[in-house]
Amino acid sequence: MQHFQQHYVGGRWIDSRGSQHLQLADPASGEPCATVQVGSADDAAAALRAAAGARGTLARSSRAERLQMLQAIATAFERRMPDLVDAIQQSLGAPRLLCERLQVPAGLMQLRAWTNVLQQFAFEETRGRHLLLRQPLGVCLALTSWNWPVNGPMGVLLPALAAGCPVVWKPSELASASAVLLAEAMHEAGLPAGAFNMVLGDGATTGARLVADPEVAMISFTGSGATGERIGAQAVAQGQRVVLELGGKSPFVVLPGADLAAAVNGCLLGLLRNSGQSCNAPSRLLVPAADAKQAEAIAAAVAQAVVVGPPGDAATQMGPLGNEAQYRQVQAFIERALADGARLVAGGPGRPAGLERGWYARPTVLAGLAPEAHAVQEEAFGPVLVIQTYHDIDEAVSLANRSAYGLSAYVVGPEAAAVARRLQAGMVHVNGAEMDIEMPFGGFKRSGLGRKFGPEGLQAYLETQSILMPAAA
Ligand code: NAD
Repeated sequence: MQHFQQHYVGGRWIDSRGSQHLQLADPASGEPCATVQVGSADDAAAALRAAAGARGTLARSSRAERLQMLQAIATAFERRMPDLVDAIQQSLGAPRLLCERLQVPAGLMQLRAWTNVLQQFAFEETRGRHLLLRQPLGVCLALTSWNWPVNGPMGVLLPALAAGCPVVWKPSELASASAVLLAEAMHEAGLPAGAFNMVLGDGATTGARLVADPEVAMISFTGSGATGERIGAQAVAQGQRVVLELGGKSPFVVLPGADLAAAVNGCLLGLLRNSGQSCNAPSRLLVPAADAKQAEAIAAAVAQAVVVGPPGDAATQMGPLGNEAQYRQVQAFIERALADGARLVAGGPGRPAGLERGWYARPTVLAGLAPEAHAVQEEAFGPVLVIQTYHDIDEAVSLANRSAYGLSAYVVGPEAAAVARRLQAGMVHVNGAEMDIEMPFGGFKRSGLGRKFGPEGLQAYLETQSILMPAAA
């Protein structure tokens, strides 16, 4: 049993002053495996004070000094990669191979990407006789989710530091093990004291206390829509800048003339990769009505062939869901879809055969639902695919866009590049193009506010200032 009871504040580890504990369970067994001491109001205040103390030093730091910080973080991060693989496998239940190939190396990809952005970014430019400055905002608060516990946080912490902003990070309580390892790497990197601070805890106590503090100039929130929208409203009322990275219900549009088998495979395996727990997971498959039967048959075969099992097994392609609440949510989601008249193409409620313990769900494919049905409109955040059909490309576009979300979209087929422009999503993948974290990522509509990654992502931590010069006499 691990006990997480220290925060990282002002360049050192301090004992938590909180009196509450949370218990975490191993998703593969459901057995308790760790406790987290919930950061108190005093802990939150100490972290914010430390960050405020580093504001001037960081704001004055040069591009070269910031690049050096990123380099030092990369070296320290690399040394912790094996431990991070173990931590994410155990706390999230992610298959070991996924942890080794993607969950953890994503940290290095982030470091490379932000180094590139920082090398080229124009913090200052002239416009005619005037000067335009991009100034660090000040203390940033990072609130992050548990599903990609390296990639998500690094996509917030690194640009904050690259912009010259000190940061206080409240990781998801469910990802405390990997968060502590990341904080150790930040410590080893020798950043100026107070540049990076981490307070462990929950949302209701620790997170809410941090959000309410006037010391915070900017909030970057990654998580669920309801919480994000509340925090966004509060931030605006308090005069804080805010970036919201929320959920999605991303369409995967298969156009006439596409390779149907490759498309259905790509969509379903992409969805199931992290047990469906990715904000940009392709969770709606849109196929021409004439191909529907064949698409369903392919999807059923793919879903049934996916090996669901313990995260440590080499053959496992899909591990359990990350926690009990997520498991219950996914079960309720499938039950409700069936009650709404969904046809089960594969999977269904309950655990896969032979996995009686732990938070394992069945890769599930649903069809025959109306466009406004709950399962078509809402995020399952689990291994549940909905198949929709269309008669012409205009209908495909209209169905794809008929969503309150707009985080990502995928489109395959000869006309994919043209159709991509018509899709209401922050990032559109054409003909299998992979995620590129040097391109801005974020949501249309209720999927969020602002962008992360790329120069646009760095801009989120900066305030634009016009310095007006008088006309020459
Ligand atoms: P969540 O909203 O429960 O929590 C997110 C973070 O906010 C956690 O650190 C949590 O402790 C904190 N928090 C919760 N309530 C708070 C409050 N009142 N005040 C301050 N902080 C609070 O979300 P989650 O379950 O961790 O994440 C899953 C969701 O995140 C999914 O909807 C997923 O789509 C979304 N997500 C989006 C992106 C993206 O980039 N768009 C990336 C990953 C996950």
